[in-house]
This record gives sequence, structure tokens and C-alpha cells, in this order.
Amino acid sequence: MKKLLLFAFLTTIFTITAQTDQRIYDIIDAVSAERIEKDVTKLANFGTRHTLSDTVSTTRGIGAARRWIKSEFEKTSSECNDCLNVFFQKDLVKKGANKRIVKDVEVVNVLAIQKGTKYPNRYIIMSGDIDSRVSDPTNFTDDSPGANDNASGMAGTLEAARVLSKYQFENSIIYMGLSGEEQGLFGGGGIAQYAKDQGWEIIGIFNNDMIGNIKGVDGTISNVDFRIFSEPVPPTETEEQRKARRFYGGEVDGVSRQLARYVHKNVKQYMPEMNPMMIYRLDRFGRGGHHRPFNDAGFPGIRIMEAHENYTQQHQDIRVEDGIAYGDVLEHVNFEYAAKLTAANAINLASIAWAPPAPETVKIGGIVEPAAKFQWSKVDGAKGYKIYWRDTTSPTWDHSRYVGDVSEFVLDGIVIDNYFFGVSAVGEDGFESPVVFPNGIFR
Ligand SMILES: [Zn+2]
Repeated sequence: MKKLLLFAFLTTIFTITAQTDQRIYDIIDAVSAERIEKDVTKLANFGTRHTLSDTVSTTRGIGAARRWIKSEFEKTSSECNDCLNVFFQKDLVKKGANKRIVKDVEVVNVLAIQKGTKYPNRYIIMSGDIDSRVSDPTNFTDDSPGANDNASGMAGTLEAARVLSKYQFENSIIYMGLSGEEQGLFGGGGIAQYAKDQGWEIIGIFNNDMIGNIKGVDGTISNVDFRIFSEPVPPTETEEQRKARRFYGGEVDGVSRQLARYVHKNVKQYMPEMNPMMIYRLDRFGRGGHHRPFNDAGFPGIRIMEAHENYTQQHQDIRVEDGIAYGDVLEHVNFEYAAKLTAANAINLASIAWAPPAPETVKIGGIVEPAAKFQWSKVDGAKGYKIYWRDTTSPTWDHSRYVGDVSEFVLDGIVIDNYFFGVSAVGEDGFESPVVFPNGIFR
């Protein structure tokens, strides 16, 4: 009897305190800097991967590069019982679509889809870019190794597929190589439209663009800092939603921001040696990336990238000028660092893919009362729900309370005015959905 009691006690303690999952540590350990180095090298050696470059050669140009990427995904798939559906998605972009499209071009993306067992139509995405460029964005013939921009993100995506294809997930994961980024985000635009046409439910996209440089143009060197860019609110919000924000909050709580917080929290938990930086903006000042077309379509999306960029090694003709070696060449890529950022992606892909969907509606109440009140819609597959809150000036969800399998709750003694709140769904294994900021109110 005593033993039984002790067992029950220990199980309870374990259930309450178990916040980490061994599989996540295994995923981190499985990511290989050597394989990433091999892949970045391979990609850089296609000479140029400019979107308008040669598509016929087997050794040079974007055609050879994308066929190789597809074959790598297929190799990975053959090692997991064909667990990946690998295919090209393409769109014709006509000459003159913008100044950088100087001839008709087929913009071709490579997709590898690992279907979820329980929610196959829900997708979490990791992407890298296939294409590269030098100083003149229309120069599609000169050598353009694009080792960091963006062979690093592409290699990380290939590696994440290798590691995660050893597991089964409830939600689907897509590993993507996108083209036409440097010409105007055409590949991402094509896929976002394709996703809409297919009726895919996009949980979010992690756009990896430059994940290999650790030495900044300002001299800062760090192999632990990295940035998570997210826009504050979606560009698709309605005038009504915008007005509601003035009274109920939400200026910094859009769906992409919640995805960014999710990644930040998970990395802090499982990779405490890393320094993820939440950047409160869509992208770098005046610059773009492939998460944007997804955001434009109303899908959550963030950019994950190095913290310290070096502009002499991006979009540059390979040359030496005033003693400075320009060009995005292999020797500037730190493969160990790229592996860490790949692991940061992989553990978040896994955590989200193992988690139930987030509650669709979350309502909040408690105006002029000494309590904050919540009601939410339950989701299939959730073991329970967690209420999060934070000081209004905090970037992260600093407080939380697991409230079990209920659809409403009252946080007594918590005054609604002084915090922001959200609710997540928690699965059997403890994996959580991203937090949902209240999208309705009640009295
Ligand atoms: Zn670029």
C-alpha cells in the first residue's frame, strides 16, 4: 500500500513537473553540422543559383540546384518508408513583372511534405531559398555562390527533414526550397497562393534566410545570438479589428508575433545556451524575405536568421576592393552555428506538429472586476488548456496557469487592465499550440 501511494505520488509529481520531452533533446543532438557543411558546399558549387540562370546544365545554374535539392529530399524519403511527398511547384513569371524579371521565367519551388497522422491538413513549414544573386540583381550568369544567402537556410531545411522524418507527427510538416526570392519574393507568393487554392490550414512558416554568419559588419562576433522577426498584426485585419484594438489591446499580439513567442520560449527551454532575440518588426529595415507573402495571405510567419549580418558578404560581386574581400563565399559560413539554428527550427516544428490545434475562439471578460475571465472553444485532441499573461510591456508570456480540460476559467485577483492574456491548448504529451490572443469579449 505504501509503495502504491508512493508510486501514485511520484507519478503525480512527474506529471505536474514534466515540462521537457527527451525527444526534443534527441532532435537537437541529431542535427549535423557536417551534413550542413556538405550541403552548403554543394549548393555554392552550382556556380550561380540566380532565378533566371541556366536550367538545362546538370552542374551549373538553378535548374541543376533544384533538381539536386529534390533528389536529396527523395533520398531522405526513401529512408523513412516514403514518408515525404516530394514535388516541384511552379509558376510562370512574365518578363517585366518588375525590373528584376528581365525575361520570362518559371519560378520553381521544391516541397517535401511529411503528412500528419491526426491533422493532415494542418501544416507547419520550414523554408530556405534556392536562389542567389550578386551586385546587379539581373546578372544571372556570373558566379553567385550565395553560401550564406541562402544556401545556409536551404541546407538547414534539408537537414531538418532528415532529422524529423525519423518521427511521426500529428500535424503535417512541409520542408520547402523557394525560388525567386531575390527577384521579388515570387516563390513564396506562388506557394502562399497554392496553399490557399489547396485549402491548406497553415499553422505558420519559419522562413530561414541567412543562418550561417556569426561575424557582423560592426565587428560583433556571436555564435549564440539570433533574431526572430515578426510583424505586430496581420496586414489582412479588418477596419473593425483595428478599431477594437484601441479598446481591448492587441497592437503587438498578432498571429505571427505569437509564433515568434512560441519559438523564443521553446528555444529558451531546450537550448538555454542560445540567445534568441525577438525583433518587433516584419523584417530588417526596408528589406524583405519570404515569410512576407505568407503574412500577406493572412498566414502566421516569422523570419529566423543570424543576429549579426555582414553586408560585404551579401549580394556582392566576388572581388577585393580597398583590401576588403567582397562576396558570399563558403569561408564565411559557420556550420556549427547554422546547425544550432537548424535545431532551433526543428524543435519548434516538432513541438507544434505534436501539439493540438489552438482554440479557435478565446473570449475575455472582467471589466471593472477584480478578476480576469476567459471562455474558449475546445479543440479535438487537447488534454487541457493553459492561460498565459504578462505585463503589458513584456515581450514574452511570463506567467501561466494550466487549468485542465475546461472551456472557461476565472483568474481571481488578477485585474484585466494590468496584463495581456492568451490561451493555448495542451496535448497529451505536454506539447502546446501557440497562444491565442483573445478575439472576443464578454461581460
Ligand atoms: Zn538575399
